[in-house]
Amino acid sequence: MKEHEIRPRELFDSFLEVARRDIDVYFAKSAEFVAVRCPACDSDQGRPSFVKHGMQYAECADCGSLFMSPRPTREMIDRYYRESESSRFWAQRFFPETAEPRRRFIFRPRAEVLNELLSRLDLPRPLIVADIGSGFGIFLEELRKLGAFEEVVGIEPSTDLACASRDRGFRIFEHPVESLNASDLQASVLTSFEVIEHLHSPFDFLHSARRLLAPGGILMFTTLTCSGWDIRLLWERSKSVSPPHHINLLSTEGLERLVGRSGLELVEIATPGKLDVDIVGNMLEEDPGTPLDRFSAYLLRHRGAEVRADLQGLLQRHCLSSHVRVVARAPCAQTSHSQTKSRP
Ligand SMILES: [Zn+2]
Repeated sequence: MKEHEIRPRELFDSFLEVARRDIDVYFAKSAEFVAVRCPACDSDQGRPSFVKHGMQYAECADCGSLFMSPRPTREMIDRYYRESESSRFWAQRFFPETAEPRRRFIFRPRAEVLNELLSRLDLPRPLIVADIGSGFGIFLEELRKLGAFEEVVGIEPSTDLACASRDRGFRIFEHPVESLNASDLQASVLTSFEVIEHLHSPFDFLHSARRLLAPGGILMFTTLTCSGWDIRLLWERSKSVSPPHHINLLSTEGLERLVGRSGLELVEIATPGKLDVDIVGNMLEEDPGTPLDRFSAYLLRHRGAEVRADLQGLLQRHCLSSHVRVVARAPCAQTSHSQTKSRP
């Protein structure tokens, strides 16, 4: 998979441009922004790092997470995702135009990863899976194809997207996960992809998700991490550091602490990301003046595809890619469940 297969350059740049204009519309009242503690480890040791598009990012001196602070209130963020032009752009143009490559390169492999987890973890029955932020329901379709679950459910607050998935026969909760209760759903598996980085409070999100898990059920989520190669190299120049969308770029150490604070047990953390080297290479191609350390610039300018692929493999194996996957488990009443705990 290459960056431009799932994020065609012109389309992605148009999206970022629309998002930049939205900042002036939805986040002009920066006096109402609230300072926050580290969203990962709850430390108050956030140190200002840089300002991007008028928004301040801080780095946690305890766990190394990168996060926006002060940040818009929860209400401002909710309104933005409900009404903004960039949300419409994403739903009506960006996602539909990239849906099939995303199914092939992202959603189907995710379903396969989940299938592999099912084969080695003892999960509560009946086997119910719910995808948080199920969008157009492409991942729900891939989950259904596995044939492993007794029910496949979506959680999607957007009415348009919820309707699109219902038409294909899925039960959809049309609410944010924070408004659902244990009586609504007790899932064996919850999934959440690329959600955490957008939220006012990742802790509230995980804490709420925990309520919807049956004892011993697992949550698998992915997000961006500032521990990864491309974000660490490019830092404020990284397109992944994109206010107002990506406001939490938590370190892998911070994610481990966040999982623990939320009352979940870490099963595993891995960075299966495939794009770090490609992203930095593309950035250098677009802007040859991109400041990079001498070694990385030399490698990208003068070495071929084999070296790039080997480097990406090394980043994946050692938890150093900026795309991270976390599997965490709700505590069991009994402790007899088989469980793996590894940190590749
Ligand atoms: Zn921290």
